[in-house]
Amino acid sequence: MRWDQGVKQILLCDSDLVASALCCFATDLLPINGEIFVMELIFRADAYAKSCEAVVQKIDEKGVWLDRTIFYAEGGGQPGDKGVLIGPDGTKRTVANAIKGDGPETSVHVLAEDAPALAVGDKVTAEIDWDHRHTLMRMHTAMHLLCSIVPAGVTGGQVGLAKSRLDFDVGETTLVKEDIQAALDGLSGKDAPVTFRWIDDADLDANPELVRTMSVAPPRGSGKVRLISIGDDAIDLQPCGGTHVANTSEIGRIVVGKIENKGKRNRRVNITLEDPA
Ligand SMILES: [Zn+2]
Repeated sequence: MRWDQGVKQILLCDSDLVASALCCFATDLLPINGEIFVMELIFRADAYAKSCEAVVQKIDEKGVWLDRTIFYAEGGGQPGDKGVLIGPDGTKRTVANAIKGDGPETSVHVLAEDAPALAVGDKVTAEIDWDHRHTLMRMHTAMHLLCSIVPAGVTGGQVGLAKSRLDFDVGETTLVKEDIQAALDGLSGKDAPVTFRWIDDADLDANPELVRTMSVAPPRGSGKVRLISIGDDAIDLQPCGGTHVANTSEIGRIVVGKIENKGKRNRRVNITLEDPA
């Protein structure tokens, strides 16, 4: 079977992709010093938020925990955000990375080694490196488009600034670079809106066609799932906790690079952006 002759199949993501793709709750409860705090991950609702005001809740070996943040934590094949935390004294502390804390719905700010200390209770302004994030948003959304046109299970992937890749369990299917390129070029002119909504088991029961349409079936019994949809005709529909552009027109042309042989059944498809800036 050639890749373009099949129907979209259920994708079987690797555990890291699943951890991100199926992140289910908008917030986690953080027990800190006997009290319960809710960490608000603003990027889940608004990927275009570039800064926010927040209060330091905890500082540990992982980094700085805020009550709310716009920093996406590294995971699911997507790098964490970089940026700064501006403390009450106006001093900028460089955030070298954001990583998950004790749950998938946490994001902890890893400060550069020479950054001045912060204290619990400090009010800070968090600012992300927007150019870095927006390129990752374009790349991440491009991966959804690639995913939508290759009818094979995903076994891994990595979003990067210069290059991204998805690994597919293609079985007997042959991937043809020129065909994938043509399909992506066909999609790139659609200027498709990227939207999300939260669904739960009741929504799935009421709309069984959703599961048939989705390229990744959501987990049941795990609370709310963030469902990403690309285009009015659902070019791609799958649970995902990552950051996406609002419209595929922001991606520009996606260029298919090497298709690498990664074993008998596995092929790695590399992509770059024609306009990487
Ligand atoms: Zn996504």
